[in-house]
Amino acid sequence: MDTSAAPPLPPIDAHVHIVGTGAGGTGCWLSASNAYRRAQAHFLCRLIGLDPAALKGDFDRLYVEHLLARLRASSLGAAVVLAQEHVRDHAGRPVPGAGLFHVPNDYVLRLAREHVEFLPAVSIHPARPDALDELDRCVAGGAAMMKILPNVLAIDCADRRFTKFWERMAAARLPLLCHTGGEKTLPVVDAALAHPRKLELPLRCGVTVIAAHCATKGALFDAQWFPDFVAMSREFPHLYGDNSAFCVPNHRIRGRIVPECLAPPLAARLVHGSDWPVPVSGFWPWAKGLITSADYRRSRRERNLLERDFLLKRAMGFAPETFTRAWDLLPPAVRTQKLAQITRQGGRPAAGPQAARANFS
Ligand SMILES: [Zn+2]
Repeated sequence: MDTSAAPPLPPIDAHVHIVGTGAGGTGCWLSASNAYRRAQAHFLCRLIGLDPAALKGDFDRLYVEHLLARLRASSLGAAVVLAQEHVRDHAGRPVPGAGLFHVPNDYVLRLAREHVEFLPAVSIHPARPDALDELDRCVAGGAAMMKILPNVLAIDCADRRFTKFWERMAAARLPLLCHTGGEKTLPVVDAALAHPRKLELPLRCGVTVIAAHCATKGALFDAQWFPDFVAMSREFPHLYGDNSAFCVPNHRIRGRIVPECLAPPLAARLVHGSDWPVPVSGFWPWAKGLITSADYRRSRRERNLLERDFLLKRAMGFAPETFTRAWDLLPPAVRTQKLAQITRQGGRPAAGPQAARANFS
């Protein structure tokens, strides 16, 4: 009898943002350049239940502790935590004063070494003069994914200058998590850069791509590129999409989008992600008839937003494999090492979702 069967894969949230002010020497920054941005930072704190006074104190440590507590009290076993590159010009130089926040690669790599639940997604603008060196350095440091927002960071993924960069990513089997579709939270440089067709070059270079939000609309007047994503998923077997921000007050889940994501063959390409710390509400899935009134009421009682998003996605009908599929897309060495660490800690480090319901506001 085989008694060495692998334990079940822990569910992953593959889209979790790190934010920091730089407190404690993390290298992060969060723009407070005007009243609107300061109000945004306060709103972010209130959303996740942190006192906005933390912005003037040890914010970076508190943010991570806050996230870890919620992750450990959820049904999830791991989270991909995202770095955030600078906005850069055509030559790859940082544009002074541009962007809302920055999270260095070294910081997420360090967080993933310190906390077994975290997998690091680094962020590299391929126009950087040192892009290939930074990529090699991050891969050697244990990067699990590479995350970019082309429309916010001014990255044209179809630019032929980046072919070598994508080829190097493919050789390292490092997946690209790439924002596609509309964007509501961050200042957009060029909306057209978030078109999924821009991803054909990295896909043809052999990169596994996760199109964040499946190229859906963020706001009412955004273009709808979901049909392009669906067509491309038939052309490229290594194109996936994440369901992040599907429970946010926006236009992502209008019409037939969720039913299409739940049906074969697209269902086999979906990856779970919350987009934490963006707001999570069951109202929109309920209003669109995607969950029952009882599911909606249950989601409102769940104060832990990571768990609430998980429960809503389950209630919407996303299959259990949606929550573990990200493991199959990671660089093999990263996957093996992280699963071994989690197994050594007893399967999952979490206290369980019940704690979440009891404690969080
Ligand atoms: Zn995001």
